[in-house]
Amino acid sequence: MTDFLPTGIQLTYLIAASLFILGLKKLGSPATARQGNFVAAVGMLLAIVATMLDSHVLNYEMILIGLAIGSVIGVIGAYKVQMTEMPQMVGLLNGLGGAASGLVAIAEFWRLRQYNELVSVDANISMLLDVLIGGVTFTGSTLAFAKLQGLVTGKPIKFPFQKAFNALLLVTFIAGGAYLLIAPHNLPVFAAVTIVSLILGVMFVIPIGGGDMPVVISLLNSFSGLAAAAAGFVVMNNMLIIAGALVGASGIILTEIMCKAMNRSLISVLFDAFGSEAGAVASAGSGDTGDKSVRSIDPEEGAMMLGYARSVVIVPGYGMAVAQAQHGVRELADQLERMGVDVKYAIHPVAGRMPGHMNVLLAEANVPYEQLHDMEDINPQFDQTDVALIIGANDVVNPAARTDESSPIYGMPILEVDRAKHTIVIKRGMSAGFAGVENELFYKDKTTMLFGSAKDMVGKLVSEVKQL
Ligand code: NDP
Repeated sequence: MTDFLPTGIQLTYLIAASLFILGLKKLGSPATARQGNFVAAVGMLLAIVATMLDSHVLNYEMILIGLAIGSVIGVIGAYKVQMTEMPQMVGLLNGLGGAASGLVAIAEFWRLRQYNELVSVDANISMLLDVLIGGVTFTGSTLAFAKLQGLVTGKPIKFPFQKAFNALLLVTFIAGGAYLLIAPHNLPVFAAVTIVSLILGVMFVIPIGGGDMPVVISLLNSFSGLAAAAAGFVVMNNMLIIAGALVGASGIILTEIMCKAMNRSLISVLFDAFGSEAGAVASAGSGDTGDKSVRSIDPEEGAMMLGYARSVVIVPGYGMAVAQAQHGVRELADQLERMGVDVKYAIHPVAGRMPGHMNVLLAEANVPYEQLHDMEDINPQFDQTDVALIIGANDVVNPAARTDESSPIYGMPILEVDRAKHTIVIKRGMSAGFAGVENELFYKDKTTMLFGSAKDMVGKLVSEVKQL
C-alpha cells in the first residue's frame, strides 16, 4: 500500500528517519542532548504532517479530536508532573505506546473481519506480534509505573507454580495464534490471545524488584518500539517501522548496558523472574534494627569533616531527586573546591529511578561533566577518599549486594563507599530504599548519619562550611 503513496510523502519519511538517526546520535553526549531531542522532535513533526496528507486517511475529525485530547493531557502532564515523578511518567508513556500499537492490530482485525477480507499469513503474524508485544508492554509498563509510584510493592511478588502458570499462558498464546492462522476472523480466539498477552505483561513484571527493575524498564522501553514496528507492518507504514525499530534497537542497547552495569545476564533476569518459584523469594529486611545503633551528627560536625578533608566523593541517589537538592549539592561542591578539597561525584548506573537519572539532575544544576565518575572508575579510588558523602542513596551503596546471597540486590555491583575513611549519609530516617532491604552500612563504625531532608541538610552544610 505504501507503494501507492505519493513520492513526496515517502521523501518526507526519509528526511524524518534521517532526523531521528541524527537526533539519536546527538543524544549520545550530554553536551548535544538537548539539540538531539529537538532534531528528533522536528523529524516526528514532519512524519505526522506527511502521514496526515496521505490519501488513505479517511477521517480527519477523529484524528484532530485525538490530537487535541492528547495534546491537552500532554501539556498538563508536562507542567504538573514533578521532575521526581519523571521515571514513572516515562514508564506510563511506554505503556501507552504499547497500548496504541496493540490497538492498531485490534482495529485491523476488526476491519478484516467486518469485510470478511482474506488475511495473508504474514499480515496475520504481524497482527499477532503486535497484540503480544503491545499487550505485554501496556500492562508491564503500567505495573512498573505502579511500582515506581509506590502504588504496589517494589519487592518481587512470587507465588507457587508461577513457572507452570507462565508456561501455560505462553502455550495458550501460541495455540491461539496457530488457530488464528487457519481461522483469522475468529473473534473469541483473538480476544483470548489479547487477554493472555495482557496477563503475560503483568506476569513479566511482578516477580521483578530491586536491582533488576532498571533492566526490565529498559526492556519495556525497547518493547514499546518493537510494538510500534509491528503496528507498522500491520498497516504497512514505513515510517512506523523505522521509528519503532530505532526505539526497539536503542532500548535493547540500553538494556545491555544496564545488564552489564548490574552484572546480570538478560537471560538470568528474565528467567529468574519468569521462572522462579515462591520459595526463592529473597528475604527483605524488616527494618528491625535490633540492638544495633547508628552514630548521628549535626551539620556543623559534618561541615568540619568535609571542609578539612583532602578528597570528598559525593554519591547522589533517589533521595537527592526527591528533595531536588542537586543545586545545593553543586553549591556545596563548589564551596569545598574553593577551600582546596578535591571533589568528585560517583554515579551508579541505577541510582534514582530511571537510567541516567542522576546525570540529568546534575546536568540541570550545571555540574561539570568531567566531575562525574562511573562505578568502575571511582571504586578503586575510595581507598584514598577521606569522606564519602551519600545524599539520599541507599541500595546502590548497600554492602549486602556483595555478601548476602538472600538479598534481592545480591550480585549487583555497588559503590564501595565503605572503603572510604569516613562516610556521611544524608537521609530522613532509617527507611529502606527501593529494594526494601536494610543497609548494614549505616551501622558501621566509620559511618555517621546526618538525618533530615537532603535539600535542607545540604543547605545547612553549605552555610556551615562557609563559616570554617
Ligand atoms: P534507594 O531507593 O535505594 O534509596 C533512596 C533513599 O533516599 C531512601 O532510603 C530514603 O530514606 C532516602 N530519601 C527519600 N527521600 C529523601 C529526602 N527528601 N531527603 C533525603 N533522603 C531521602 O535509592 P538509590 O538511588 O540508592 O537506589 C535506586 C534503587 O532504585 C535501586 O534499588 C534500583 O534498582 C531501583 N530502581 C532504579 C531504576 C533506574 O533505572 N535507575 C528504575 C527502577 C528501580 P529515608 O526515607 O529514610 O529518607
